[in-house]
Amino acid sequence: MRILVVEDDDALRDGLKTVLERAGHRAAVTGDGNDADERLAHESFDLVVLDLGLPGLDGLSVLKRMRQRQQSTPALILSARDQIADRVRGLDLGADDYLSKPFERTEFEARVRALLRRGQPALAEFGGLKWSWESRQGWVAGQPLALTKCESVVLEALLHTPGRIVNKSALAQRAAMDDEPTSDNSVEVYVYRLRRKLEPAGVAIKTVRGLGYLLQLEA
Ligand code: CA
Repeated sequence: MRILVVEDDDALRDGLKTVLERAGHRAAVTGDGNDADERLAHESFDLVVLDLGLPGLDGLSVLKRMRQRQQSTPALILSARDQIADRVRGLDLGADDYLSKPFERTEFEARVRALLRRGQPALAEFGGLKWSWESRQGWVAGQPLALTKCESVVLEALLHTPGRIVNKSALAQRAAMDDEPTSDNSVEVYVYRLRRKLEPAGVAIKTVRGLGYLLQLEA
């Protein structure tokens, strides 16, 4: 997914960019309200993370102008101002969610996931496999699928783009997000285990040598 981060605090902006990229997104950044307005008017994003106090145009004005252009891109407001009036005004102007600074990285990640899920089906179905993006739980032929956290991360990455190749290093990077460093070799182990667990669903993980993996239905 393509996300625009509008934040004038350099350290926070860089940190958020890193977090989003580790989750597999493409993050564009700016610290200026006018620049954000310009980019939003001419480029397409799946989500905007928007600080309120900004040089140039303030965050609420950026949001207002975006909604006036009939752009429905979800907006997550970030602000140090924890005042009810600001929050209400932001929501009135069409913000989709609001996070007060300081916030935990995990909470930011959860809010982003929730906003990006909107408009997506709650349940992915592939062959005999069902996967709930909400509870991060899967079923094969009605039976719950027992997966470790890393196996879930790898499966979700493959399920996001079934039939398209996902790079092995990208999978390693995602699996390493919350845990100890993951190497390309451990990805091979997760894929090996997933293959066995997905077999009864008629779902195969194909290795494309030198490129990565893709999810496909077994012939
Ligand atoms: Ca600010």
